[in-house]
Amino acid sequence: MSYVDLHCHSTASDGTLAPADVVRLANDAGLVGLSLTDHDTIGGIAEAAAEAKKLGVRFLAGIEISAEYPRPGTMHLLGYGVDTKNPALGDLTRRLIAGRGDRNVRIIERLNQLGVAITLAEVEALAGGTIGRPHFAEVLVRKGYVSSRQRAFDEYLGQGGKAYEDKETITPKRAIEMIKAAGGVAVLAHPIQLRADNDSRLETELKNLVDFGLDGIEVLHSDHNDRTIEYLAALAARWNLLSTGGSDFHGGNKPHIRFGFAATRRIPVEFMDKIEARLALG
Ligand code: AMP
Ligand code: MN
Ligand code: MN
Ligand code: MN
Repeated sequence: MSYVDLHCHSTASDGTLAPADVVRLANDAGLVGLSLTDHDTIGGIAEAAAEAKKLGVRFLAGIEISAEYPRPGTMHLLGYGVDTKNPALGDLTRRLIAGRGDRNVRIIERLNQLGVAITLAEVEALAGGTIGRPHFAEVLVRKGYVSSRQRAFDEYLGQGGKAYEDKETITPKRAIEMIKAAGGVAVLAHPIQLRADNDSRLETELKNLVDFGLDGIEVLHSDHNDRTIEYLAALAARWNLLSTGGSDFHGGNKPHIRFGFAATRRIPVEFMDKIEARLALG
């Protein structure tokens, strides 16, 4: 059997390894392919693609876009095989990143008002690309304001936290349209994070996305237990959706996640084959 990882992050967003290093890790781990899916940016794709070519690892351009969704859930959409030169996608990523810039300033203001003396420069110094809350969490830990990254989210940065700020978002419909207009396939990341109360609620949400053009769902993910995996695999089969999978590797920012593994399972190369076959259909 051959395996891949179709969901991982680099320093272009909130991972701790450079794009080329993520590819080297995939090669060292014996994976035959991967997709880099940084938050709201394709800034790491060129570097990763070049390294993949050098090492003979199959590579699929990717992006993970945060879409509007009611609390306490979160909705992330993966775009695979997007044309990184697509002008509209470039405009979108610039807008999302600019929105993050405004939000970062607001988070710092909130923290400072709470007596937490950290600066944006300290956060920026940790980040290589798109800044995310994990970078804030790391600074809070390093400066001794909290004992762990998780405490940083619970107390300050997570939904309901004292310094929580929403980020610039895009509707799910628009995110799917943008991914597809850029030649990609659109996949709902980690459906468990929608936090649907029950299966029927989840199916209603999914049906909406399918109506907007969703191509697949991420069946294998580090947050999914066996029951969720079996259920999502059955849904994908029933609705003729692509099944995808990935670890959601973030390097040292999420040390519990093992590259190449969705919790205990590995991701079969057939998942990548089928995405590529769908892309070839155009
Ligand atoms: P951002 O893209 O800046 O909104 O940050 C999102 C990142 O923060 C994701 O990688 C999440 O896994 C992480 N995150 C969000 N909420 C929490 C939470 N409550 N506890 C731990 N990590 C979280
Ligand atoms: Mn992340
Ligand atoms: Mn996500
Ligand atoms: Mn992710």
